[in-house]
Amino acid sequence: MPELPEVETIKNELLLHIIGHRITGITLFWNGIVRQPSVEEFCSRLIGQKLTGVARRGKYLIFSLTSGEALIIHLKMTGSLLLKPASTEPGKFIRAIIYLDKETQLCFRDPRKLGVMWLVVDTNSIVGKLGPEPLEISFTPQILLKRLNNRTAPIKALLCDQTFIAGIGNMYADEALFAARIHPLRSGKSLSQDEGERLHHSIQEVLFSAIGYKGASVDTYFRPNGTTGTAHFEFKVAHRLGGILCPVCGTPIERILVRNRGTYFCPHCQPQNQPDPR
Ligand SMILES: [Zn+2]
Repeated sequence: MPELPEVETIKNELLLHIIGHRITGITLFWNGIVRQPSVEEFCSRLIGQKLTGVARRGKYLIFSLTSGEALIIHLKMTGSLLLKPASTEPGKFIRAIIYLDKETQLCFRDPRKLGVMWLVVDTNSIVGKLGPEPLEISFTPQILLKRLNNRTAPIKALLCDQTFIAGIGNMYADEALFAARIHPLRSGKSLSQDEGERLHHSIQEVLFSAIGYKGASVDTYFRPNGTTGTAHFEFKVAHRLGGILCPVCGTPIERILVRNRGTYFCPHCQPQNQPDPR
């Protein structure tokens, strides 16, 4: 699933090409992709509007429009947004095309048909409940520690909870916990001040690094120009199985389920019970 670094990359790369463009038409190949309002209203209200900005909140893309409304897109598990010349034939798995002036089209590709679009007046109706943005300056170690306080859920589950912190999913939660040397099943409230500070640092480091590599193309993620990101080549534990050894200590990486999510970690570097000796 595209997580913060992938969605941030898409936002950055779309910005250059679509701001100021007018929406001239929409074709839907899968009506279920429009969550709100009705398909007819969605299309009629969008056509003719200019795109005035693109922002990211958590894993959501927010396109602002001249009317003051916003088009919000969530790519879910397998979605990507591809920019193509207007004359391009829709390829496989294209669920929607937004035609822009200047001979451009924005194609919503989504093999599993889970991605969603909304057209709203108030963006908070969709993104208002999200937790803090981990790369904002206002997200400090103290804020993280305060939010961990009294939380009994496993830290892996908390990191993937979009109301706890926005934008992190399975891959980057595993990478951040490995970098911070914290076992994924530790409860939020069990983390010491030092561990909370380490985790804060690791979250930012892992996300910034992945943005630098333009996201991770583990599955079906593509950048708007159709190329892949390379952040997954830097993964230390996420999706590493089959006798892969910890790059720090050489212990085989293990996989467990945490709240039904496949979770990769090093049992030596991320001990469950003992306080970290380092
Ligand atoms: Zn290790």
